[in-house]
Amino acid sequence: MTERVNNFFESKIDSIKGIGPQRAELLNKELAIFTYRDLLQHYPFRYEDRTRFYTISELNENLPAVQLKGRLRDWRIEGEGAKKRLLGTFSDGTGTIELVWFQGIAYFEKFLRRDAEYVVYGKAVAFGSRYSITHPEIDLLTPENEKAGYWQPIYNLTVKLNRRFIDSKVIGKAMRNLLQVAHPHIRETLPAELVQQYRLVSKAEAVWYIHLPSSWEALEQARRRLKFEELFYNQLRLIKNKLLHKTEFPGQIFGAIPSVARFYNDFLPFSLTNAQKRVLREIREDLKSGKQMNRLLQGDVGSGKTIVAFIAMLMAIDNNAQACLMAPTEILADQHYKGLKPFAELLGLNICKLTGSSKKSERKIIHEQLLDGTMHIIVGTHALLEDVVQFKNLGLCIIDEQHRFGVAQRSRLWAKNPVFFPHILVMTATPIPRTLAMTLYGDLDVSVIDEMPAGRKPIKTIHRYDSHRLSVFGFMQDEISKGRQVYVVYPLIEESEKLDLKDLMDGYESVSRAFSDSQISILHGKMKPRDKEFEMERFIKRETQIMVATTVIEVGVNVPNASLMVIESAQRFGLSQLHQLRGRVGRGADQSYCILMSDVKLSRETRTRLDTMCRTNNGFEIADVDLQLRGPGDLAGTQQSGLAGLIIADLAKDGEILKAARASAERILEDDPALQTPKNDPIRLQIENQTNDETNWSRIS
Ligand code: ADP
Ligand code: MG
Repeated sequence: MTERVNNFFESKIDSIKGIGPQRAELLNKELAIFTYRDLLQHYPFRYEDRTRFYTISELNENLPAVQLKGRLRDWRIEGEGAKKRLLGTFSDGTGTIELVWFQGIAYFEKFLRRDAEYVVYGKAVAFGSRYSITHPEIDLLTPENEKAGYWQPIYNLTVKLNRRFIDSKVIGKAMRNLLQVAHPHIRETLPAELVQQYRLVSKAEAVWYIHLPSSWEALEQARRRLKFEELFYNQLRLIKNKLLHKTEFPGQIFGAIPSVARFYNDFLPFSLTNAQKRVLREIREDLKSGKQMNRLLQGDVGSGKTIVAFIAMLMAIDNNAQACLMAPTEILADQHYKGLKPFAELLGLNICKLTGSSKKSERKIIHEQLLDGTMHIIVGTHALLEDVVQFKNLGLCIIDEQHRFGVAQRSRLWAKNPVFFPHILVMTATPIPRTLAMTLYGDLDVSVIDEMPAGRKPIKTIHRYDSHRLSVFGFMQDEISKGRQVYVVYPLIEESEKLDLKDLMDGYESVSRAFSDSQISILHGKMKPRDKEFEMERFIKRETQIMVATTVIEVGVNVPNASLMVIESAQRFGLSQLHQLRGRVGRGADQSYCILMSDVKLSRETRTRLDTMCRTNNGFEIADVDLQLRGPGDLAGTQQSGLAGLIIADLAKDGEILKAARASAERILEDDPALQTPKNDPIRLQIENQTNDETNWSRIS
C-alpha cells in the first residue's frame, strides 16, 4: 500500500515562525488547531482591502474601512475612569485626523512613538470638520507594508485569542511563513483532466491564494478550486458508498406480487397519480433487483406517500417477508396504523402497533407474532428499534419523516435481518433543495412525488396582524358554520416552554370565550400520550370543531375536514415548519385557508418568510428560499450539522459547482470503479491518505 505521503502536514504548529509554544497552546485550546494541516485549513472568512492607500483629503463618510499612511504627530491621554482615552494626531500631508483608543491604553502608551511613520487602518467617522478613527489598526511603516497591494485575510478567532494579541494579522503572518515552507509539499489532489476541464488553479496555488490573495481574481480562482475539490470528494464518497451497497449487499428478491394487483383492482379507493405510479415502478424495480434498496421518497405533504408505502409493503408480504413502518411520534404512528389497518384487513393481513406506551402484555404477543411470522405489518415509533423486537423475516423497512431519525438508527433497522438486510424506504415530507439532497442523501436513490392528487384546491394563505383578530375570528366562525374544522397553532420553543405554554392557555381561553357554541380540543407536548390521543381522536371524529395546539400536530396528521389553520406568532416559525404545518389543511375537497398572524414589527427576513408562504404552495420553492435565508446547516437540523464536513462550499450558493462535481465523480467512477487507472492516481492517493478521516477527502494531505 502507499505510504502516508505527507507526514509533513502533521507537524506541530509551534515550529512555525511567528507562533511558538505559547501561541500554539492557545490555538490548540481555542480552535483545535494542532498541525500544519489544521492551520492551512483555517480559511479566512473575509478579506480587508489593503490594495491601496487613501489620503486624508479623500476621506468621506461613505467609504468603508480604509488604509492611510502618515506620521503620528503626537499623542496624549484625556479623561478619567471609563472616559479615559488615548488620542493621537495623525497627518499625511493632505490633512490631519484623530486616532482614539479606549482600550489597551497601557499597551499603546508603551508602543506608540511620536513622529514615527505608521500605516493605519479603520473606518473614518466625521466629527465636525475633522475625521477620527476609533481603535484603528496601527503598524509602523515598513518597506513591506508600504507596498500595499494586498488583501488582509480575516480569520475566525476567539475573544481569548484576541485578548492575548493573536489577531488576524498575527495569523496572517504565521500563515505566510508556513506557506513559504509548505508550498512545495502541497500535492495536486485532482486528476489533470478535471483541472483542465474546469480550468482550475492547482491545489498549491489555491491554498496560497485563499490565505494571501494577490488580487480579487486570484482569490475567486482559489475559492472556486477548493469548493470544487471539496464537493467532488464529498460526492465521490457518497457515490462510492452507493455503488458499494449495490455490489456488496444483496437484497431479497420479491418476485410475484398477486395481492398488489388484487388491491389495485378491487380496493383502491382512488386512482393513483402518475407520480405515485412512477415511484411505485421505481420501488418495484429495486425490490426485484436482488440488491438492497436504499431509497429516499420525497413528496410534499398530502402528495399521498402512505398508499405508496402500503403497496410497497404488499410486495414484501407477497413474498413471505414482513414490513415495518417507523414514525417519529406516537400520534403519527397511530395515524399510520389507523390509516393502514382498513386496507390490511381488506386483504386479510395482520397489522399491529408498537410504541413506548404499549402495554407489556401486548408487547409480548407482538414479539411472538413477529417471530413466528404471523404478524405481517408493524407500525411504531423508536420502540421498534429495541433489540427485543425480532422478526421471522423482515423484508422492508419504511421510515417516515427521516429528518428526525439519524443514520445510526437506520443501521439498527438493518440489523434486524441478519440473512438479508431489509430493503429501506425513507419517506420525507420536507422538501429538500436538490443541492442539499445531493450532499445529505447522495448515497440513496431518490424518488419524488411531484404531483398532487387530482381535485385538490391550492390552499389560500394570507397574513394578518394581531390587531385584525376579530375579523379572523369571524372567518373562523364562517368555516365552522359550514361544518368544517379549524386548527389554531401556537409556537412552542423549548427554551421558553413555560411562557409558550401560557400563551397557548391564554389563547385557548380567548378562543373558548369567542366560540362558546363550539367544542374545543387542546393539544400540546406536555400532555400524557393517552390524553393527546384522546383529544386528537375527538377532533378526528368531529366532536370538536377547533383544535388549539402547539406544533405537535406538525407532521403527518390527517383530518380532511379541517379547512382552516390559524398560525399564531407566525414570525417565530421557520419557513419549512410553516409549510409543514399548513400541510395539515387542504387535504379534503373543500377550499382551505391558512392565516398567518403576527405583530406589526417584523424584520426583513421574517417578511420574506411570510410573503413566500402567501405566494406559493410549492414545497421545493419554499425549501429553496429557506436555504437562501438560513443556510444549509440550520435547514437540516442539528443532527446533520457539520453537513458532510464541508468547510468552504456553501450549498446555498454553490449549486452549480456541486452539479459539476457530482457529474465528474459519477463519470470517473463509472469509467474506473476501483480508481485504478494512472490518470486517477491523485484520487486514489488522496483517499488512501485520508482513510482515517472519513468526513472530508478534500483535506490537505
Ligand atoms: P402524505 O404524502 O402527506 O403522507 P397522505 O399519504 O397522508 O399524504 O395522503 C393524503 C391524503 O390524500 C390521504 O387522505 C390519502 O388517502 C389521499 N390520497 C392519496 N393518494 C391519492 C390519490 N391518488 N387520489 C386521491 N387521493 C389520494
Ligand atoms: Mg404522511
